[in-house]
Amino acid sequence: MKKTGFLYDESYFWHDNGSGALHLAAGGWVQSHTYGEDPETKRRFKNLLDISGFTPKLKSITPRRATREEVEQFHIPSYVDKVKKLSDADGGDAGQIAIVGRGSYEIALLSAGGAITAVDAVMDGEVENIYALTRPPGHHAEAEEGMGFCIFNNVAIAAKHAKRKYNLDRILVLDWDVHHGNGTEQAFYEDDSTLFISIHQDRLFPRERGFVEHCGEGKGKGYNVNIPLPAGTGNAGYMHAFENIVEPIVDQFKPELIIVSAGQDPSFFDPLARMMVTANGFYRFAEFMKKLAERHCDGRLVLCHEGGYSAAYVPFCSLAIVEAMSGIQTEVEDPFMESFGPPVETLFPHEESAVQAVIDQQSQFWEFSADRVVR
Ligand code: ZN
Repeated sequence: MKKTGFLYDESYFWHDNGSGALHLAAGGWVQSHTYGEDPETKRRFKNLLDISGFTPKLKSITPRRATREEVEQFHIPSYVDKVKKLSDADGGDAGQIAIVGRGSYEIALLSAGGAITAVDAVMDGEVENIYALTRPPGHHAEAEEGMGFCIFNNVAIAAKHAKRKYNLDRILVLDWDVHHGNGTEQAFYEDDSTLFISIHQDRLFPRERGFVEHCGEGKGKGYNVNIPLPAGTGNAGYMHAFENIVEPIVDQFKPELIIVSAGQDPSFFDPLARMMVTANGFYRFAEFMKKLAERHCDGRLVLCHEGGYSAAYVPFCSLAIVEAMSGIQTEVEDPFMESFGPPVETLFPHEESAVQAVIDQQSQFWEFSADRVVR
C-alpha cells in the first residue's frame, strides 16, 4: 500500500525574517522579538512527528529547488530579481511584510520547489498523498510582490507546474489558512482549469479581499469561491461550510488533483486570528479532503504548509492532519483538549448565515440541492 509522504528541509527553518513582533517591525514602542512567522511553529511540528515515532511511518521526500522559469510561470521577472538582490545583500522587504533575509532567495526557491516535488510525488504514484512542510509560506504572494511573510507563491507555482507537466484540465486548490489566499486567487482568477476555494476569517488579512462576490472573471467566472466566516467560528461552523459549499462544488468540478494551502492559523490559540478550530477540527478538515480526493482523483492530495503562529499548538493540529491523511493513529492526544468549551462544536446561526450567503452567491454557477444529506 502506498504511503503518505512527508517533505521538509532543514533549511526551511533557516529562512530568517529578522526581528519584529507579530506582524509589526520592531522599533518605537515595539520591543524587538520574532515575527509571528518564525521557524519554531514548523520546527516543533517536525519534532513532534519525530518524538512520537510517526516519522518512520511516513515516506520521506526530499525537495528540489524550483527553477527560475517555474517561478516565473506566476511571478514577474523583475520581482524575482528583487528578491534575489535583497537575498544576496543584507535582506529587506520584497513587498508588504515579505521579509527576505540573507540567502532567503535560495530557501524560497526550495519552498516553491518543495510544493512542486510534492505534486510530482503524488502524480508519479510515489506516495498516495503528501504533507509538504514548506517555508517560507506562499499564498499571499502576488505576481509582482510578496506579502504577509510570503515570498514566492508555492501552491500557485505547483498548480501551474501540475497543469503543464501532466496536462491536467481540472485542479482544485483549497486554502484553509485563516487569512485570505489573495495571491493564489490572483493566479487563477480568470482560469477555469483551476478552481480556487478560500475559507478564511472575514476581513482579517488582506482586509479588503476574500469577499463572497469575488467569484472570478472571464472564463474563470464561478471558479473562484470565497468563504469568509465570522470570527469565533469553531469546528462545527467550518465543517458546515465544507459539507454545504465545498463538497457540492467539488463534486461538480471533479478535480484530477487536489492541492491544499494548509495554514493552521484558524487554531484555537493563534495569536494572529480569532477562530476556534481544535486539533480534532483539523483532523476532520484533512479527513474530508482525503475523502474528496479518493472520490474524484484516486486520492491524489497535496498539502502545503502556510501559516499557523501558535508554537505550542500548531504541532498538534498539524500532526492530527497527517494522521487523517495517512490513516495512522499515533499515541499523541491533544493535551489542550480540556481547554475547549462546547462553542467549538456548536453551529451558531450567524455562522450558518455566512455559509448561506456563499451558497446564494455561488448558486448562479453551481447547483446546491436543498435536501442534500450532510455526511
Ligand atoms: Zn495565515
